[in-house]
Amino acid sequence: MSLIIVKNATCTFCGCVCDDIELHADGEKIVETKRACSLGESWFKHHTAERLYPDALIDGHPATVDDAVERAADYLVAADMPLVYGLSNVTCETQREAVSLAELVGGVIDSHTSL
Ligand code: SF4
Repeated sequence: MSLIIVKNATCTFCGCVCDDIELHADGEKIVETKRACSLGESWFKHHTAERLYPDALIDGHPATVDDAVERAADYLVAADMPLVYGLSNVTCETQREAVSLAELVGGVIDSHTSL
């Protein structure tokens, strides 16, 4: 199978927005990520557009989004200092909402880049 090569791809994983990544794809998945850091390489190689999971899970079981949001709210209200964590590959609007949520529930916020 011949490789599809995309030059100057942009990585949006951590926010640095590196735009000089060269991607090699075999038609189904990305197999090479030249100039991407380890986070970018993992993102390109392991995040797909495939639908792998249901819309929501509660204790590992499929659930409706409404039920999952309600359960999450219960956990947040009961927590002493919840951590709002992650936020890679999300929009500025989403980050703004996450900060508001952390403030609302008396929590703290961190991104994956602290790794
Ligand atoms: S994860 Fe790595 S390759 Fe991707 S934008 Fe951040 S620094 Fe660049």
